[in-house]
Amino acid sequence: MEEKIKQKFAEVFGDKADIFSVRTPGRANLIGEHIDYQGGYVLPIAVDRYIFSTGRKRNDRKIRLFSFNYNEFFETTADDILYQNTRKWANYMLGVIEEFRKLGHSVPGMEIVIGGDVPVGSGLSSSAAVEISTGVLLQKLSGIKMEPVELIKLARRAENEFVGVNCGIMDQFAVHLSKRDNALLLNCNTLDYKYIPLHLKDCGFLLVDTKKKRSLSSSVYNKRVRAVEDALNIIKQYEDVDFLTQVKDISVYKDRLSEENFKRARHIVEENVRVLTAAKDLENRKIEGFGKLMYESHDSLKNLYEVSCDELDFIVDFSKGFSGVKGARLTGAGMGGCCIVLIEKRTIPNFTEQLSALYKKQFGIKPEFYEVESVNGAFYENKP
Ligand code: ADP
Ligand code: MG
Repeated sequence: MEEKIKQKFAEVFGDKADIFSVRTPGRANLIGEHIDYQGGYVLPIAVDRYIFSTGRKRNDRKIRLFSFNYNEFFETTADDILYQNTRKWANYMLGVIEEFRKLGHSVPGMEIVIGGDVPVGSGLSSSAAVEISTGVLLQKLSGIKMEPVELIKLARRAENEFVGVNCGIMDQFAVHLSKRDNALLLNCNTLDYKYIPLHLKDCGFLLVDTKKKRSLSSSVYNKRVRAVEDALNIIKQYEDVDFLTQVKDISVYKDRLSEENFKRARHIVEENVRVLTAAKDLENRKIEGFGKLMYESHDSLKNLYEVSCDELDFIVDFSKGFSGVKGARLTGAGMGGCCIVLIEKRTIPNFTEQLSALYKKQFGIKPEFYEVESVNGAFYENKP
């Protein structure tokens, strides 16, 4: 794939002289869902599916972008960064460029090819991978230096403000700073993080893509963000907290919150505790305990946060009855996208064959399976 992107660059922009290339993985969250925007702990890994960006500086002010996957070209100038309604993919790059400008940096003209094999809209955060790839590349092309955490925050602002999705900071963090064979335990409030080695014995992570279109997902997502902010504002009248994840005993608010907002808030508080227990289990090589927490997380996302769907529940229910599976849950925002399954590797062929047939019978389509390894975050090189 990387070579194809470089070839495409030569095709579109004439040759490959003076190029920089960045490879940024997608991510899968092992546990800690829908709590990054409430200052909670999350535990993602970066996975071996990548977004590649190859680019070079221009001597004029032109910004020329080419999407390998969409086979589309977009051109503007460094002084003219505007939201695009027809080339939406360009917004994830333009948003990052705009954030560099907002910091007072002079952004040069440039030409970039972007592309990769992170499935789009499946909960593996192709969007964050595009943003971080663009940001790392832009640093190389412009000579602007930035600490990784500063770039991570910048990329999140690009998605929040330019693209218009109220995502938390987990995705950009995971795709930039993950480490191979480790999960990243991140405190989304303080941004402290540590690596937890993945000693999974004969188990691995399998992603099952529901292939369901997530048409409603961004409106439901923004609705949940608002609901928990409402709940937090009420709780703040009784307790000195900045985030729901700091609430010790959520049960005292049962009658002070609406039934719906209480359920949402309870998910956030309990999920946060689950992440810390899960991280300990992983450190102590307690795979069974870790898997159980994955199931509990899914149940909470289904019943309390209500961001699951029939397809995701079907995959989790099947997993529960399949010997060889240790745990399973939806990963990412939900309402479609992927389930992450912790499974004994030798049973994967049987699992995929049986699930595929049953799922097809139930929903009329086949799910897609990605057996993933945990890999390092964003990486750059300047080889043609
Ligand atoms: P995800 O869960 O994958 O992050 P999002 O809806 O947040 O889903 O982001 C997907 C969007 O990111 C795509 O619609 C596209 O605009 C952009 N994107 C993802 N992958 C690519 C790619 N390979 N090339 C160009 N743009 C991409
Ligand atoms: Mg995204």
